[in-house]
Amino acid sequence: MAIERTLSIIKPDAVAKNVIGQIYSRFENAGLKIIAARMIHLSRAEAEGFYAVHRERPFFKDLVDFMVSGPVIVQALEGENAILKHRDLMGATDPKKAEKGTIRADFADSIDANAVHGSDAAETAKVEISYFFPALNIYSR
Ligand code: UDP
Repeated sequence: MAIERTLSIIKPDAVAKNVIGQIYSRFENAGLKIIAARMIHLSRAEAEGFYAVHRERPFFKDLVDFMVSGPVIVQALEGENAILKHRDLMGATDPKKAEKGTIRADFADSIDANAVHGSDAAETAKVEISYFFPALNIYSR
């Protein structure tokens, strides 16, 4: 199976709940390596740029408001089948529909405040990783 990279964000709600370590453990236990990481309080422009594909969606303003409401932890993860593996760990977008034992089922409160972000495909992963990390700040092992 291919070694992939994906971009993960622990959103402001999960940072506020003090569950960064618990979420990191799930990545590590699933065989995903953290190859870059930073804590950042996104500016409105940064959040809008990151979610530009959703610009026309009705929830866009609320999503941006939420993403700038507090600091986030952003990381690049690497491992076999990392994109899908990470999406499986996250669970469905709406925590009410997320499978038991997933990050969103366990830590998220609503579809807006849903604890985590994960890239959905190889192309988006590449763009999203480079949005936060220059190549020299990625430490693949
Ligand atoms: N979102 C929302 N309301 C919706 C759909 C999405 O607030 O009805 C937010 C939610 O935070 C989600 C993000 O927009 O994580 C991006 O949506 P997407 O469909 O890409 O879901 P994801 O890939 O994060 O599961």
